[in-house]
Amino acid sequence: MTELKLKLPKGTKLLIATHNGGKLAEFKQLFAPFGLDLVSAKELGLEEPEETGTTFEQNARLKAHTAASASGLIALADDSGLCVDALDGRPGVYTADWAGEPRDFNKAMQKVEDELIAVGVTNSTQRRGAFFATLCLALPNGSDKIFVGEAKGEMVWPPRGDLGFGFDPTFMPDGFDITFGQMSADKKHSWQKGKPGLSHRARAFAKLVEDCCDF
Ligand code: IMP
Repeated sequence: MTELKLKLPKGTKLLIATHNGGKLAEFKQLFAPFGLDLVSAKELGLEEPEETGTTFEQNARLKAHTAASASGLIALADDSGLCVDALDGRPGVYTADWAGEPRDFNKAMQKVEDELIAVGVTNSTQRRGAFFATLCLALPNGSDKIFVGEAKGEMVWPPRGDLGFGFDPTFMPDGFDITFGQMSADKKHSWQKGKPGLSHRARAFAKLVEDCCDF
């Protein structure tokens, strides 16, 4: 695939290729200063493709290209997940699947905890994990660009806080004594030009903005 050389000036219509309300809310907040015209795959009634990839990058590409070719718009997809060291990187690309159908993230967080106990984890140094976000910005002509962000931290139990979404209440990012679930959205997504940002999504987003948006 050819590498995308693209600027996203104010007013550009950008399709956020997600049906996940939590991710959409985060992107709306992240893009707010850039004056883009955002529309979501859900709002356009686009179907979500089956995530058949075995890497975050493959799934991000699948979602972005499906949405871009169905809509004729520039599309941005996020494939993300939680990789827990003591579980050999699981749930990884299958993070959303651990919440079952219909999605129940209390069940998913409990499953991570049960698996940690099953492998004999006893102290906080064995509870290391990281969130990853891979963003794919795709054009209807098949070109694209990938941006990756990672946030390292510790899996805590019991869950703390009711902010954010997904596994946020069980993830305490390095340098903090509160979880993403106890953090305001502004704090979780904070980033500044030239600085890496806090969350995995904010870190990937900062790279995208550096490359494609006007400050
Ligand atoms: P997917 O990218 O649609 O495959 O879903 C990724 C899953 O990872 C989400 O459903 C969440 O459970 C989890 N996840 C990704 N990013 C975050 C985050 O920022 N906070 C909490 N959970 C997340």
